[in-house]
Amino acid sequence: MQQTIPPKCTVLIIGGGPAGSSAATHLAKKGVDVVLLERAEFPRNQVGESLIPHFWKFTDQLGVSEKIQQQGFISKAGGITVWNDKIHQILFSDYGYKRPGLHIERDIFDQLLLAYSEEQGAQVFNQVVVKKVDLSGPEPVVAYTDTRGTPNLEGSIQCQYVVDASGHSSLLAHQLETRQTISSAMNFLSLWGYFKNSRYVGVDRQSHSNAELKTVAPVTFVMSHDDGWLWHIILREKTSVGLIVHTDKLAGMNKVQREAYFKQSCARIPYLKDLLSDAGFIENSLQYRPDYSYYASQTCRENYYCIGDAAGFVDPIFSHGVQNAFYNAAVATLAIMEGLKNTKKRVRFAALCENRMQQFYSFSRALSLGDFGCNGVHRDLVKSLMKSMPTLELELMLVASEMTNRSENFKQLAREAGVWEQFSEQFEQQKRGVIEELHF
Ligand SMILES: Cc1cc2nc3c(=O)[nH]c(=O)nc-3n(C[C@H](O)[C@H](O)[C@H](O)COP(=O)(O)OP(=O)(O)OC[C@H]3O[C@@H](n4cnc5c(N)ncnc54)[C@H](O)[C@@H]3O)c2cc1C
Repeated sequence: MQQTIPPKCTVLIIGGGPAGSSAATHLAKKGVDVVLLERAEFPRNQVGESLIPHFWKFTDQLGVSEKIQQQGFISKAGGITVWNDKIHQILFSDYGYKRPGLHIERDIFDQLLLAYSEEQGAQVFNQVVVKKVDLSGPEPVVAYTDTRGTPNLEGSIQCQYVVDASGHSSLLAHQLETRQTISSAMNFLSLWGYFKNSRYVGVDRQSHSNAELKTVAPVTFVMSHDDGWLWHIILREKTSVGLIVHTDKLAGMNKVQREAYFKQSCARIPYLKDLLSDAGFIENSLQYRPDYSYYASQTCRENYYCIGDAAGFVDPIFSHGVQNAFYNAAVATLAIMEGLKNTKKRVRFAALCENRMQQFYSFSRALSLGDFGCNGVHRDLVKSLMKSMPTLELELMLVASEMTNRSENFKQLAREAGVWEQFSEQFEQQKRGVIEELHF
């Protein structure tokens, strides 16, 4: 780990999650002088443990796929949903994927990515908290507090570009007052915690003890319940269980009451209670995310870029937050590289990137919130993205949104984009994988 934070650099990145570390890797590989400031000491905990196989194309691009494979994370074959009593199964292999999805411990995964960016030449400083970005001068100046020693040290660093990858704290969007909260009937918050010794749902639709993980591949288990929906994701040493709950359900509850609600729900909800019947809750593992769906109305400008959760977040139903972070990092660093070569066109490159980011987040919002009236969604951008996406990726999303009863926007936009014809009813029936029952 580096000791002295330089007073200047070419690109300053705020945050070392997947968005920040992958942006740092892209730039460092091209020889750019990049500094990354991360407020936590890594490894740090993070939610978001299910990865769908799209993510491999980004890690291939970064050159880090082999390291990920060597980590031995749990491979998953697909997902099973129980939604309003209907049971469905998706197998990634049906959609042409040669590599599996993964269940990852995010502390380990994120640390691996951050260490890799350092190996590629990024200067990484943990336990350094960015306070403010001054965009008033010819170059951004980033003020930080270095908390590595006592007393803490205040400092600043001047750069040509700032990349805000600060996750849901979305530092720049808050500062610039561009952070918009999304209002929809699907107004959710999330509570999640960890269990030891949970059973898991296997690809064979049966429940298994975690000793069987090496012989029967797991799936991510997702289910609707009276107050929202839930996930069950088996990891190597523990199991992540999350409840996505309508905001008003927990209104006014304190921490103790939220924990009681979580434990009671886990002991009550069908299927989940069976999976957890011999499991023990890991004390103090419960976490809570209230400020759920938001987006930044401006993400890219001449000298700053907001990427990953710092640019927006909707709902984790499609398990695509980490891959969004990778995608944004790839697009933003391309624009930055071009801007470094041709300074006169920085505004133009930022505008192109903004267009891409709004397209992507609009797509994400429109698909994740089926009831959503598409406020703040750039419909034409979404339609052009749909036209350019590989059919199999689009099909997988359609089936996932069908399975969770939120496909209205998807279908409408697909019709308007003229890509609906490719999704024949027959295909939907085949791939939707309706199952009669699960054997628990
Ligand atoms: C309930 C829930 C479930 C989810 N499930 C999934 C899932 O199954 N699959 C999936 O792919 N995604 C999932 N996600 C989304 C996923 O967690 C995020 O999309 C992903 O972590 C985004 O990466 P990021 O790098 O943008 O942000 P983060 O991973 O949040 O990283 C941001 C980093 O910035 C640092 N930081 C913040 N402020 C500062 C500051 N001022 N100075 C310096 N550093 C700072 C933080 O410490 C952090 O390390 C889920 C999200 C939620 C809320």
